[in-house]
Amino acid sequence: MASEFDLIARYFTRAAPAGLLGVGDDCALFSVPPGEQVATSTDLLLEGRHFFSDVDPTALGHKALAVNLSDLAAMGARPLGCVLGLALPRVDEPWLAAFAQGFHALADAHGCPLIGGDTTRSAHDLAISVTVFGAVKADQAFLRSAARAGDDIWVSGELGAADLAYRLLDGQYPADPQRLAATRGALERPEPQVALGLALRGIAHAAIDISDGLLQDLGHVLAASSAGATLRYADMPVAAALAGLAEAPLRRAVLGGGDVYQLCFTAPAERREAVLAAARAASARVTRVGEIRAEPGLVVLDAGGRPMAELPRGFDHFPAA
Ligand SMILES: [Mg+2]
Repeated sequence: MASEFDLIARYFTRAAPAGLLGVGDDCALFSVPPGEQVATSTDLLLEGRHFFSDVDPTALGHKALAVNLSDLAAMGARPLGCVLGLALPRVDEPWLAAFAQGFHALADAHGCPLIGGDTTRSAHDLAISVTVFGAVKADQAFLRSAARAGDDIWVSGELGAADLAYRLLDGQYPADPQRLAATRGALERPEPQVALGLALRGIAHAAIDISDGLLQDLGHVLAASSAGATLRYADMPVAAALAGLAEAPLRRAVLGGGDVYQLCFTAPAERREAVLAAARAASARVTRVGEIRAEPGLVVLDAGGRPMAELPRGFDHFPAA
């Protein structure tokens, strides 16, 4: 008789593409072309800590892989495959089917097949662990330490929508079904910027994906590069759904809002045309929002060119209780 974990395995077992040995042996096997390195990253998502318990399972399957693909994008790496670990408090077949559908759809879209994993019973909460593997030419990965004074600072996509959706769902703002409908996709179904990361190889210097807020994540780049930055608030690509928000929550969403999964990257000023061409090739939007400086510190200029006195700290959505 098939155990419930055999049933789970059914949803996640797929034939591996040619050249890969996937689910079914003790290990998955894959190789990278000569001259390339394996880029790998892992994320652990806990119910209540990283996602709401009642989130749509298809969206959750998508997001569990998306946040990992976003890390590959931030390194300029090409996805090769992924492994999934699930700890489940109960076996709910419709939930599993929907989760698997969201996961596989994004995996297929990025050529990142599931090549292994494990499932187990959890006493309480749901836990999801995804590890991705990618390939990148040995000297082409975008390192956080690679920003140089004079580099432009760019941001892909739009900022602020995920933060607003989170705070609406969390009850921090009065219910606003229209704004929630306009922002929820950004929080629950982020689109990892893998194609942009690949198109920027040989052009961008440093890159990071925005998971904890633009200021906090750019801060990691500045620390690793021993550099500072000036950002222009008026140039930020603010999501249209934020129109009409009061100034404080607006700044908090744009500069400090997490769960964005867009790229913040630096590139030499003389490569502006190349950056724009790369974005066009990747069907991505990119916006130039500031410069890297040699002097340490992160300054954000307001619309009048004056440094903002109070900057929102990076915001970790779903903080621990
Ligand atoms: Mg990251």
